Amino acid sequence: MTSSANAFQSGVSVRSVSKSFGQTRVLSDISLEIGPREFLTLLGPSGCGKSTLLRIIAGLDHADEGSIALGNQTVDGLLPRERDVAMVFQSYALYPYMTVAENIGLPLLMRRTRSWQRLPLIRRLHPVARAATGTIARDVRRAAEALQIETFLDRKPGQLSGGQRQRVALARAMVRNPRVFLMDEPLSNLDAKLRVAARAEIAELHRRSGVACIYVTHDQVEAMTMSDRVAVMMGGEVLQVAPPAEIYDRPAELRVAEFVGSPK
Ligand code: ADP
Ligand code: MG
Repeated sequence: MTSSANAFQSGVSVRSVSKSFGQTRVLSDISLEIGPREFLTLLGPSGCGKSTLLRIIAGLDHADEGSIALGNQTVDGLLPRERDVAMVFQSYALYPYMTVAENIGLPLLMRRTRSWQRLPLIRRLHPVARAATGTIARDVRRAAEALQIETFLDRKPGQLSGGQRQRVALARAMVRNPRVFLMDEPLSNLDAKLRVAARAEIAELHRRSGVACIYVTHDQVEAMTMSDRVAVMMGGEVLQVAPPAEIYDRPAELRVAEFVGSPK
């Protein structure tokens, strides 16, 4: 996959986004600009609003105020699948009853079958069977080869290790050729050794795809080693956005210094 593979590669603009759940304000007037090829990490303690912000960018949740744009396009009215973003979750969210190939191919299938899904008769046919055929199979194989899981294509997720499952989730994100990757703590279920290898895999995936990546973690080491820039979040606010070295050398305020300077 080359950087020219997606003609719609774009940056992300988060414009004055606020969000409350009931009386609790979870995001307070967040604004961020992510460049078209940038790797930006949202770093902050548990509960500070990272996942909520990512879900709003993906269209899985909606802001009370503010707006999200991908490239020049405001996407507030678009469904998640219409936004052309790929999200990787902590849980990997793989379908246990489908094979690895079917799991990877599913987003492509969903995209292709958008119109005829509305026909009740066709909807009753098991659509996943089609994942095994044609161009989808070729794209699935290519993504699987890139992540070295091509020998597992016929297995079910339950027959894989945590690290292998994580690679399936990455392949599924990659196969869509998205204009933005959104990753929500994708490595936190892995043991320490696997995590280091997987970091390199994600960095490579980002480099090869050439699209923007917004990566969420509460792990300073991950944030500092992987990112072009880090956005430090706390209590629903972004306290500082800067390259890793600058966050360390010139923390914008005490809360940033305390968070990045503290042991995990
Ligand atoms: P993080 O990903 O940084 O750990 P989250 O975005 O998941 O934080 O959550 C931020 C805050 O919003 C937390 O206090 C959490 O309990 C709350 N929250 C998240 N989702 C919901 C929801 N669907 N309903 C109510 N509260 C929620
Ligand atoms: Mg979270």
